[in-house]
Amino acid sequence: MKSFFPKPKFKVDEIISYAELVAAEQANVQKGMNFQINPEYSIFLMSVRRNAPYADEWDERTGTLIYEGHDAFSNWVKNPKETDQPLTTPNGTLTENGKFFTAAQSYKMRLVTDPHKIKVYEKIRDGIWCYKGFFNLVDAAIVTSDKRKVLKFYLKPVEFVTKRKQVELPHSRLIPTTVKIEVWTRDKGKCVECGSTENLHFDHDLPYSKGGTSLTAKNVKILCMKHNIKKSDKLITIPTIFLS
Ligand SMILES: [Zn+2]
Repeated sequence: MKSFFPKPKFKVDEIISYAELVAAEQANVQKGMNFQINPEYSIFLMSVRRNAPYADEWDERTGTLIYEGHDAFSNWVKNPKETDQPLTTPNGTLTENGKFFTAAQSYKMRLVTDPHKIKVYEKIRDGIWCYKGFFNLVDAAIVTSDKRKVLKFYLKPVEFVTKRKQVELPHSRLIPTTVKIEVWTRDKGKCVECGSTENLHFDHDLPYSKGGTSLTAKNVKILCMKHNIKKSDKLITIPTIFLS
């Protein structure tokens, strides 16, 4: 098995600016779907906000991220929103949709042993992003939506426990966007301990490893890095191994 252990630059659920995102990846990831931006992984930018350009969604029941493919460019077709999302460009090369679709199919057909790895960042509001960690691309489908065909990519979160071993995270680990927006508004985008607006992330009051839930704003608050570390010191660390 191919080893895979990138050093994460952010903690899962850390809140960052777009500039920090670009600096960490050393790449312009603006187009949203970025296939193999790095030899080890790809990057998806996502948003489930009401006015988001694509219908990304968290399936909380199964803990799956369902990411929508992207439209044809407006210089290829007249109405991108009324045209099937393309797998190939007018020149016949694969689009980002096509590259990810091929990667998902290769894994499903067992042509490769490991699923394709995708790092995900979620837009919370303009200029504010949240690092979601690494996901396995486990499936892809072409579905009909508003009389046209769109692509759907199915991603399952992974956590790297050791250099070679990876396990899927239980879905309670993921904080739903509705909860994040509620927490962000309630805590006014600041650390609840010191009011800092730097190095923030969403923190579980009762850690998920001890049965805490991410599904309600009551158990989630904003902490800066310093206060998050202070808090972690007090807790007895339980290894995050969830083998089913
Ligand atoms: Zn603080």
